[in-house]
Parts: sequence; structure tokens; C-alpha cells
Amino acid sequence: MAEPAIREDENVPDVYRDYLELCRGIKYAEPAGGLFDGLRSEDPARRSRSWELLCGAWNRRGPEFAALLARASAAKDPDIQARFGLDPAPLLEVVGETKPLLHRALKRKAARVGAGDFRFCDIWARVPNAGNSGAVPLAAALGALGDMLEKRIEGGKAFVDGVAAGRLHLEEQAVDCPHCGVPAPGGPVHVYMPLRFKEVRPCDLPGLAHELGHVMHCDLLDELAPGEPISTVFLETFSQFLEGLAWLELRDGAGSSGAREDLALDKLTEETLDLLLFPAMLEFEGRMIAASGKGAAGPEAVEKTYLETFGKWFGASPAGTWFWMRGKTLYDPRWPFRDLTYLLGRLVSLELVQRVRTGGKMSREQYRRAVSDTVRSDFAGYWRKQGRGSPIRPEDWREMLAPVREMFG
Ligand SMILES: [Zn+2]
Repeated sequence: MAEPAIREDENVPDVYRDYLELCRGIKYAEPAGGLFDGLRSEDPARRSRSWELLCGAWNRRGPEFAALLARASAAKDPDIQARFGLDPAPLLEVVGETKPLLHRALKRKAARVGAGDFRFCDIWARVPNAGNSGAVPLAAALGALGDMLEKRIEGGKAFVDGVAAGRLHLEEQAVDCPHCGVPAPGGPVHVYMPLRFKEVRPCDLPGLAHELGHVMHCDLLDELAPGEPISTVFLETFSQFLEGLAWLELRDGAGSSGAREDLALDKLTEETLDLLLFPAMLEFEGRMIAASGKGAAGPEAVEKTYLETFGKWFGASPAGTWFWMRGKTLYDPRWPFRDLTYLLGRLVSLELVQRVRTGGKMSREQYRRAVSDTVRSDFAGYWRKQGRGSPIRPEDWREMLAPVREMFG
């Protein structure tokens, strides 16, 4: 999502304003869209080069970002965990259990994409043969996607057909990473992708399903709770749900166990970012807030905590990868632990995928019910509506992560 310009009268903390200013000063040697395409390349040398150009621009400003993070951490409310009503620690513990599994999968992927060992620059690489061939025109791809979704969710095909008939606008990405358009109920659907979409390959379908999921969610939400804003906890849940369904279909349709493995490794990109990067950011933020409460934080402490935390989650040395620290949530003192909301929604999307896998096709009514349960940004409330007790036990989190263990185990 492009960064909105700040209005003069807006009450934005100085540290966050300084952060936005610093971000605006980041210049890549080449257009960033091309660099992200380079990260997906099958050529290890091109991936390394793209990564160096992306990271280099951030690494040069690393000390300035570290100073801002120290200021932002000190300005965050240390009591926010109690106010938020959910401590990230148990969730981090359970998500951490999938870490060794993901590390092993990352090693397998590295070998599959021609890198000797796991390197950060290989996270986005597309695994050869994982749905990379057999490109078709967009209309045919949308037809296939409708059939895929219809197998798992009642009304899936009619929805895709409806969007395809005039609401869909494909746009080349104008910012430095794939991002989601902001949907409006009944409005046009903007799909931004790094791929140029002259033709659509099977591996592009999950991404397309993701964007359509935003629209499906948003339309239904507007019907169920008109005028209600989209809950931040559940913003990505249904897009990731439809994306997960498209992956399931691709994998089930694969002709061999080798092809299924390739598809799983291709999907690893998403799991790496969601289940390693987001937990790392949360843990980093928690440690920084705790340290600044003791008056100990400074740019050197930031760097040390960063290296320890990211090394722990990724299992590789993060030295020289300040690129990861560009997340705006870390720099805004008004929203401590905001990434937690993302992780909660992500786990709910995994739970929905599991529900459909084990319980069969989701009826229109069940889908409406799932959306209506997520109108408010209240995870504990969602949990109670599912007939479960609150607070959440580690077993429940483990159950939500089952699809990940099955896919990469
Ligand atoms: Zn999205």
C-alpha cells in the first residue's frame, strides 16, 4: 500500500514523521519493481544482485533508522500488552515451534533454486516447475480460478465471474513490493502485481485469489454491517483464506509428489514472511520496549537486539539486512504490537483453510457466518463465537498451525 501523504494538521508523532521523511530519501539504483522481479528470478546471481541493490539502500541509512527506533520504542506505552488484552508471548512460543520445520524447508528450497545454503535473497525465488509453465490469457485463468474456488466454497465461481465482468483492473506495481489495493464495497477491484499479467501462469492464481478475497470479504462485510470499517485484525484473513484454497487446489492437481513438493516450497515464501518475519518483528519490539523502560536503549542496543532476534527467527545472520526493518509499525509510537493483529488474522486464515479441508465445501451460509464473526477487531470475541473458551491455550494455536506442519513436515 502506498504511503499516504501526511496532512499539515494531522497529529503525527515527530518520530514517525521523521521516519516517513527518511523513507522518502531511500533511493534504489534501479526501479524497485524490477528489483522485486529480480528476487523472483530463477538465476541465483540475479537474485543476489537485486537483493544487494535493495538492501544496500537501507543499510547505508541503518544508523539513522536505529536512532529512530530507539526514540520510537521509548515513546511506546509499556503497559500496552495489558491494554491490548493479549500477550504476544504464548503465540510467539507456539509459532516458534514451526521454526525448525520452516528452516528445514528453507534449506530444501535453497537447493531447489540453485543456492548452496539458505540466503535471505532466495526467499522470493520461484521454484522451477512449480506452476511456472502453461501460461494462459487472463480470461481463461479467471475461469480456472472460479472452478477451483467453487470446489471449496459455494458461490465461488459466480463471484469470480461477476468480478471478471467489468470490476477487475490489473495494474503494474508502482511501489517497491507487491501490495493489496484498498477495496470498496461493490467498487472496482485493483490488482497490483509484480507480474505483467499479459499471461497468467498457474502459480499466479493464488495471488489473484488473494486480491479477490479482499473484495469478497469487503462486499459481504458491507452487506452484514453497512458502513462498518474493515477490522484490522481480520483485514487479510479472507484474502489469505482464498489464496490458501487456490494453493490447495494447485497442489491436489499436481501430477507427482515431486510437483507437489515444488508447489509447497514455492508457497514457503509466504510462510517465511508471515511466520518468521512477523514474529521476529514482534519479539524485537517487545524487547526494545522493555529495554527502553529501563533506560537502556540506544542505537547500539537496537543493532544488537536486531541481530539477535532476527538471527534467532531466521536461523541465518541478518548482518547488513536493514531492509527488514522498514516496517512502519515499528516506528509509530501510537501502535505498539500492531503486527500482532496481522499474525492473529493469519492464524484465523489457516484455521479456515483447515476447516474446509477437513469439513468439506463451505456453504454460502457458513461463509457469511465466518465473515460476520470477524466484523469487529476483537480476537477474543471471535474465539468465543467459535464456541471456544478464552483465553487461548497453546493447543489451540497449535491446531491453527496444522496446515503449515502438514505442508512442510
Ligand atoms: Zn492482502
